[in-house]
Amino acid sequence: MARIYESRKRILVTGGAGFLGSHLIDRLLEQGHEILCVDNLFTGTKRNIDHLHDEPRFEFMRHDVTMPLYVEVDEIYNLACPASPVHYQHDPVQTTKTSVHGAINMLGLAKRLKCRIFQASTSEVYGDPHVHPQTEDYWGNVNPIGERSCYDEGKRCAETLFFDYHRQHALPIKVARIFNTYGPRMHHADGRVVSNFIVQALQGEDITIYGDGSQTRSFCYVDDLVEGFMRLMETDETVTGPVNLGNPGEFTIKELAEKVIAMTGSRSKLTFLDLPSDDPKQRRPDIAKAKELLDWQPTIQLEEGLAKTIAYFEKRLPELIGR
Ligand code: NAD
Ligand code: UDP
Ligand code: UDP
Repeated sequence: MARIYESRKRILVTGGAGFLGSHLIDRLLEQGHEILCVDNLFTGTKRNIDHLHDEPRFEFMRHDVTMPLYVEVDEIYNLACPASPVHYQHDPVQTTKTSVHGAINMLGLAKRLKCRIFQASTSEVYGDPHVHPQTEDYWGNVNPIGERSCYDEGKRCAETLFFDYHRQHALPIKVARIFNTYGPRMHHADGRVVSNFIVQALQGEDITIYGDGSQTRSFCYVDDLVEGFMRLMETDETVTGPVNLGNPGEFTIKELAEKVIAMTGSRSKLTFLDLPSDDPKQRRPDIAKAKELLDWQPTIQLEEGLAKTIAYFEKRLPELIGR
């Protein structure tokens, strides 16, 4: 117990009421740390952190990271940002501000506190990639003025800021490039493919495939990803990233739809709709760097992770749709 107390840190998690943030907080609390969760509840929900209501080491603060934040912590995980196209395109200017002004404020905070700061970057920095699988040294193929740009370019600029604070102010930074991740507590209506397909299958509605379904994605289960976050944060100061974190198993969207139908026993049919603009045709992480630096690789394969996610939505869907 004494050892836990000595190593206990006060950790700020921005975006902590969201899908990934709430899982990260659960793991950090398990390790004995204190958590300050900062979130403006744009896409996150108190439901994701309800179970922590009576936890004395957990504190929630409703705050928008585009505004300055003066708090005292030992470490920062910066996750605040809407992640699904439906949500980040709802108010694109706010999305860019969240990534850019949010990064400046959190980096300013880390600089004053001289503390480590982790950035949840994204595989979207690679855009519609010409290099496959994507390695960290690939600079990407991103449209600067399209409908996804508020997110992609916002995240790219945030990476720039992280590396400039590192070079200019010797700030210890940890940048993770996250590939598509899924699991319990994904927002049921945020339009991401795994939650969409499961919710549609459970309700017997048509499964909406955009385009012909031949585009590929690689899906990482949330517990694996969070383990990667924590290992990256624990590395020595020479490790800055960017490090790809994701599951290299690659599936077409049509294969995913067929798996979800089979696993839910649904009678849903496939329906083919227009492909959204700038939708990347393929995506798969090269995780050699994560293996080498973090001794990390995913352990939960798609069927196992889908089973857990389907079980979550089966249990929670009536309540989620009802409210
Ligand atoms: P999410 O939408 O569930 O969580 C994001 C959280 O940030 C929400 O709780 C939201 O309310 C909060 N937020 C948004 N704008 C804010 C602001 N201005 N101030 C304070 N809080 C704000 O999404 P997620 O999937 O948990 O994603 C978390 C992070 O990981 C994001 O930065 C996202 O870009 C990144 N990421 C996620 C994935 C993925 O597959 N889930 C992939 C790549 C990158
Ligand atoms: N900032 C913050 N909390 C702090 C310190 C800074 O929110 O504890 C914000 C503040 O808005 C500032 C930004 O971070 O503008 C960048 O800080 P930095 O010290 O890098 O630059 P400057 O203060 O010169 O703008
Ligand atoms: N997609 C789909 N049907 C849906 C939702 C998404 O076919 O109901 C496709 C989407 O066009 C993309 C892929 O699934 O090719 C992954 O979409 P998501 O929004 O989950 O993530 P991202 O495009 O950011 O990788």
